[in-house]
Amino acid sequence: MPGEENIMVILSSPSGVGKTTLTKKIQQKYHSFKISVSHTTRSPRSNEVNGVDYHFISKEKFEKFIKEKKFYEYAKIFENYYGTLKKTVDETIPKNDIIFDIDWQGTKQLSKFKNLNLIKIYLITDNKEELKKRLIKRNQNTQEEIEKRFNSFDKDIKHWSDYDYVIINKNLDVCFKQIESIIKLSKKKLSIFAHTPQ
Ligand code: 5GP
Repeated sequence: MPGEENIMVILSSPSGVGKTTLTKKIQQKYHSFKISVSHTTRSPRSNEVNGVDYHFISKEKFEKFIKEKKFYEYAKIFENYYGTLKKTVDETIPKNDIIFDIDWQGTKQLSKFKNLNLIKIYLITDNKEELKKRLIKRNQNTQEEIEKRFNSFDKDIKHWSDYDYVIINKNLDVCFKQIESIIKLSKKKLSIFAHTPQ
C-alpha cells in the first residue's frame, strides 16, 4: 500500500521550548518530510505568512469545517481554534512523511486513528526562567499572551505520558540529533515490518 512506510511525527511542547525551530530544521534536512500546515482563527504575527505558517481563517469558517467533520483533530487553545484538515494529511501521507506541531489535545485525538504511523514526541525544558526569557525575547506576543502561555506550562506538561518519547531541550543541536535518531529508528522498524511476510 502506498505510504505504509511513511511516518507522522508529532512534536508537542509548552510554548517557547523550540518546537517550531526544530520542525523547520527537520524539514530542511529531510526532504521526505512535509510540515502539516494547520488552520487557525488566531491573527497572524508580523513574521507569519498565510498558507506557510498557518492557514488563517475566520471563526465562522472554522466552525463550519467542524460541523462538516473536515478535521482529523482540532482544539481551542488560548481562546483560538487550531486544527488539522483530513484532506491535507490524506493527500500528503501516500507520498511523504509528515511532521505536526500540535498540542496534547490534538495528539490525543490523532492517537485514536490506529492506522496512522504516529511517532509522538514531547519536548520540555528543565529551566522555566529561561523559557520565560525566550517567550519575551521572541517578541511575538503581547505581555498578556506571554503570561498566559507561561502559566499554561504546568498544565501542559502533565500530558507528557501520552507520548512515545520525552526530550529535554537543553541544547537545540543535541535535541535535534535525538529527534533524528528517533526518526531513523522508526523508519527502519516500519521498513522491516513492511518487508516481513505476514
Ligand atoms: P501558536 O499560537 O504559538 O502558533 O500555537 C499555540 C499552540 O497551538 C502550540 O502549542 C501549537 O503546537 C498548537 N497548535 C498549532 N496548530 C495546531 C493544530 O492544528 N492542532 C492542535 N491541536 N494544536 C495546534
